[in-house]
Amino acid sequence: MSTPLTVRVLGAGVSGLAAAHLLAADGHEVELVDERFTTPAVGTALGLFSPAQQVLSRLGVLEEVRSISAAPEVGTLRAADGRILATVPAGNALLVSRSELVRILLDALPDRVTTTRRRIEDVRPLRAGADLLVGADGVHSLTRRSGWPGRPRARSHGLTVLRGTTALEPPEISETWGRGWLFGITPLAGIGTNWFACLPEHRTSSPAEDLAHLRRTIGGHREAIDAVLDAATPQRTLIHGIHTAPPVWPVREDVVLLGDAAHAMAPNLGHGANTALRDALSLSLAVCGNAEVRRALHRYALRRALPGQGWRLGSEAVMRLAMTASTAALRDRVLSGSSARGS
Ligand SMILES: Cc1cc2nc3c(=O)[nH]c(=O)nc-3n(C[C@H](O)[C@H](O)[C@H](O)COP(=O)(O)OP(=O)(O)OC[C@H]3O[C@@H](n4cnc5c(N)ncnc54)[C@H](O)[C@@H]3O)c2cc1C
Repeated sequence: MSTPLTVRVLGAGVSGLAAAHLLAADGHEVELVDERFTTPAVGTALGLFSPAQQVLSRLGVLEEVRSISAAPEVGTLRAADGRILATVPAGNALLVSRSELVRILLDALPDRVTTTRRRIEDVRPLRAGADLLVGADGVHSLTRRSGWPGRPRARSHGLTVLRGTTALEPPEISETWGRGWLFGITPLAGIGTNWFACLPEHRTSSPAEDLAHLRRTIGGHREAIDAVLDAATPQRTLIHGIHTAPPVWPVREDVVLLGDAAHAMAPNLGHGANTALRDALSLSLAVCGNAEVRRALHRYALRRALPGQGWRLGSEAVMRLAMTASTAALRDRVLSGSSARGS
């Protein structure tokens, strides 16, 4: 092991929890800071693929996560009229509630991780006396805004995402691409159905009104979607925009960015949390193998900058394809043609 470092981690989401755990397990002194250490009441699903599962295994929580996950084998991509555009193998993904995943990661934190509940307005005091500051503070990262001044902030894509859970048995596993909207249905173990929708920005102060707008926009296209929308309630619906952050080199001096702080991406390839977990493992391996912090961080950046930005760009391209209104008919023809040729 390298010389023990004093590490501060800002942000106790998936990336910060994993990094704090792995660095503490390597013998470093870790303080984890977040304005809240609570898990959201509505736990919509995250898909975790094999590389992320390997990180969970390192953290000793894979079997617990697996025990509360759904593991579908295949899903379909459909047009608004229900036509199958593509059959998509799930690739051993585990579908787990994000809030349950965060709870498991929190419970598994080694005792030697100190946790501090505080909203941070200035990262300089966090750097004072620390060998390393880990910015795992999400898409609007204060760490990134402070340490990378002049870089553009995260930007909105002018879209609204609604997602929720219902006790309904999932009528199918699918993602439907309409003209300027999408709707997804997956199982969520122990709950029933996880659903998500994306449409052009429309947000009021009332979740009930936002859900009603979604029903007006998307309802009536497909029976499976209508069944889920009928069962959805404002109390079990989360509503937010989509923001992505412009690319940055994720290391500066003794500060490193992880997860959404480094490469916030559109949700369309379902890889934000997967990439965040890989970041955490790479950071701990780089720090473990290098006595000198800045060299270790450089090594981390060389490993992670490209995959992070690759997923960010790929996710944005898929988001544009999924959400197009003007070329939706052409998109559907091309996709259904290529899936027919492949079968
Ligand atoms: C609709 C949707 C679906 C998704 N589906 C998937 C999926 O299927 N698979 C997948 O891999 N990913 C998915 N993602 C992405 C995934 O949720 C994120 O990429 C991931 O959770 C990011 O984790 P993080 O730890 O980097 O950041 P966050 O989870 O945002 O955590 C940041 C933490 O920092 C804290 N914080 C921030 N600023 C401060 C401050 N100033 N002071 C104190 N605390 C602070 C916050 O309280 C928070 O706890 C999806 C995202 C969306 C929006």
